[in-house]
Amino acid sequence: MSTSFRFIVSRTDGGARLGEFHTPHGTVQTPVFMPVGTQGAVKGALFKDLEEAGAEIVLGNTYHLHLRPGDELIARRGGLHRFIGWDRAILTDSGGYQVFSLAERRKITEEGAEFQSHIDGSRRHLTPESTVDIQARLGSDVAMVLDECLAYPATRDQAAESMLRSVRWAARCRRRIEALRSSSAPDIVVSNAGQAQFGIVQGGVFPDLRCESAEATRAIGFEGYAIGGLSVGEPIDVMYDIVTETASRLPIAQPRYLMGAGTPEDLVECVSRGIDMFDCVMPTRNARNGQLFTSRGRLNIRNARYADDDGPPDPSCGCYTCRRHSRAYLRHLHLAGEMTGAALNTLHNLTFYLDTMRRIREAIMFGTFDTFRQEFLRSVSRPAHDA
Ligand SMILES: [Zn+2]
Repeated sequence: MSTSFRFIVSRTDGGARLGEFHTPHGTVQTPVFMPVGTQGAVKGALFKDLEEAGAEIVLGNTYHLHLRPGDELIARRGGLHRFIGWDRAILTDSGGYQVFSLAERRKITEEGAEFQSHIDGSRRHLTPESTVDIQARLGSDVAMVLDECLAYPATRDQAAESMLRSVRWAARCRRRIEALRSSSAPDIVVSNAGQAQFGIVQGGVFPDLRCESAEATRAIGFEGYAIGGLSVGEPIDVMYDIVTETASRLPIAQPRYLMGAGTPEDLVECVSRGIDMFDCVMPTRNARNGQLFTSRGRLNIRNARYADDDGPPDPSCGCYTCRRHSRAYLRHLHLAGEMTGAALNTLHNLTFYLDTMRRIREAIMFGTFDTFRQEFLRSVSRPAHDA
């Protein structure tokens, strides 16, 4: 076990769990949303604004940071927290997902992945062991194992083969981090001795494969468990069913992380199914495209109906953007291609996501989560609002 990582569930309400985990860079209240800081920055946002909005943890992408500026450079700069100027918690993915989605000419073998960098075309290798070493140099508080990310749709045979390989890779990742923890690999710089490691459950949309994967991943033993390979194009009901099935197979006393999801509705629905952690590029990416998430549904700032609208993006939101600026102004900035517009939209969307998680935690605390969930889904699920 990692020395610093502790998770405590303080209250449950139906399937929803209120808790916190402790890292060398502070406590994280769960359920939590982690803004995505792909290249060591959350696109369009300053860390001081994230702190103000209540973010306690951000995600960094191992694939991007490994290729540029390189994990060895980051280790020389004292690790990722010091390099990027963020002293709260950081989770890093293993880089696997980007190898499968971004890298060119990739070849997957039992040993690992061989691919061409999408930046300079250089030939690269990523193995379960090397992703552990890279994340050790980065010094994140939570590191993820390397898993094989399956394209959707996949046959049952493909999903089974891929899941079994992910289990074998997970065991290699665990052996490697244990070697680093016992200092039997002294050539690797470990930037954060209290780093935790999470396993990842795979198995596509096949409940029996998910169960097998959950059992096998538990048997290896990690500080926390993620559900990977969802939110990749499968129908929403299928995703929710797989989350329900998988979460019920994971240890009660450890955090459960649903990777890459999702919409505000997904957060609420999956908290009710026992998920504690989320990450998604949606609030930041959609902000840059002019889509705002509000307490009354989604709002597309490009819409002509906002040209003379003096109202704030969301009257219920207390963020800087909503306190200071009108829809008319944000629409103008968006159409003019001003980067300030993207930044203001991003701040609002991240505040909305982080506020949603805070309201979820309060509802669990007061035992009113199901009422909250129904009201939230009713008000937020509208495709666009006419307020
Ligand atoms: Zn706002």
